[in-house]
Amino acid sequence: MNRLTLFGTADAPELYPLRDFLQRSVVQYDWVDLDAAPVALPAGLREAWAAGHRVPAIAFPDGQLVLSPTVEEVAQHLGWITKPTSQEYDVSIYGAGPAGLSAAVYAASEGLRTVLVEREAVGGQAGTSSLIENYMGFPEGIGGAELAERARQQALKFGVDILLLREGIKGTFYDHRIHVELASGDKLVARANICATGVEYAKLHLPDEARFFNQGVYYGAGASEAFFCQNKDVYIVGGGNSAGQAAVYFAGFARRVYMVIRKGNLAATLSDYLVKRVTTIPNIEILYYSTVQALAGEQALEGIKVLNSQDGTETWRATSKLFICIGGQPNTHWAAETSIIRDPNGYLITGPDLVGRPGFAECWPLARPPYHLETSVPGSFAAGDVRLNSVKRVASAVGEGAMAVTLVHKYLAEVDKLTS
Ligand SMILES: Cc1cc2nc3c(=O)[nH]c(=O)nc-3n(C[C@H](O)[C@H](O)[C@H](O)COP(=O)(O)OP(=O)(O)OC[C@H]3O[C@@H](n4cnc5c(N)ncnc54)[C@H](O)[C@@H]3O)c2cc1C
Repeated sequence: MNRLTLFGTADAPELYPLRDFLQRSVVQYDWVDLDAAPVALPAGLREAWAAGHRVPAIAFPDGQLVLSPTVEEVAQHLGWITKPTSQEYDVSIYGAGPAGLSAAVYAASEGLRTVLVEREAVGGQAGTSSLIENYMGFPEGIGGAELAERARQQALKFGVDILLLREGIKGTFYDHRIHVELASGDKLVARANICATGVEYAKLHLPDEARFFNQGVYYGAGASEAFFCQNKDVYIVGGGNSAGQAAVYFAGFARRVYMVIRKGNLAATLSDYLVKRVTTIPNIEILYYSTVQALAGEQALEGIKVLNSQDGTETWRATSKLFICIGGQPNTHWAAETSIIRDPNGYLITGPDLVGRPGFAECWPLARPPYHLETSVPGSFAAGDVRLNSVKRVASAVGEGAMAVTLVHKYLAEVDKLTS
């Protein structure tokens, strides 16, 4: 595909979702900073700027120019917004992170009519990773977005319907089927489903955090922003692998990268190979026993207050880039209205972990116990990070996606026997 051109000003908050989507979708683009050296603008944008409308724009390879584009418009132009092609699927999969992509590839390759629904970009958390170094088969590592894009291509090859920028919001189970309403108003019917909706980053819950969102405050590793961190001091909150990877990546661009971590060491939360990197790269500094207490700035983030819990000192530090890579909350709000049992933190409980849980005996209708990845609703499976006691790794999410498909086959055979 030829490259797109993105026009705008570096700090425009509406550009972050576009850059993030393009980066995670492995779409190459050229960047034109309209505050930098004067450039010849394409017709349409020229007139808008001459009239004082400082709007961003995207020029597509076919010559079309879209002013103030939304992510949905970009996906539309790329031909990625599609409609379901079946009235009913054998399996519907929610979430196109490693677990959902893997499930889709295995399901469709084994002849199941498969639909994969993703509310953002393909790749999930893994798609935001600059370099995955511990996934088997890639000794040099592989960018998370590239890995996901390969899986997307593979899923399409086997005939998966991928519904991008669509969100499952409500599920009802009857007639040996799951009926799901999407936020778009579309409805999907499938004989079985796999929930692979993963987790998303927690917030710090500081005053003004929402106001600075995309204006200096970002959730996740923000690989698309590295270029815009050149010669800046960047702060990353979190001591897990995602924070460590982000620190290593940003260190190649930023003047200095600070990791803000609550504990006094990294060993408990960070893989050994990343501990070695972040403690030896000269422009990475770890702020141990530290938490961000406050944010400051006029329009955009200009500074953060950091508390050191060991000596009780509070320091204001100037920065325009804060990446929050802490913890995770499972995306299971939709399950609240179903009889799918979750733990107090919202994780989906599956298989043997269900037995003996409050409410399970009352809702489980079958004589057999739930299969290993089956939730408390027969035929509704969970895979990857969204599942209670999952391992939170790309490889395990991929493995569970594949395993869930095997269990879907077993479940469908059971229903066929029952209804024939
Ligand atoms: C920056 C970063 C670096 C990492 N690096 C590594 C690494 O090097 N090695 C490693 O093994 N692991 C790594 N991990 C962890 C790994 O990426 C996760 O364990 C893995 O992505 C989990 O996959 P998943 O498919 O279960 O969920 P996710 O990746 O969280 O994907 C879930 C998907 O579901 C979508 N979704 C949510 N709700 C809905 C809904 N209602 N409808 C439709 N779609 C929905 C989300 O948008 C998302 O795309 C990293 C994570 C991060 C964030």
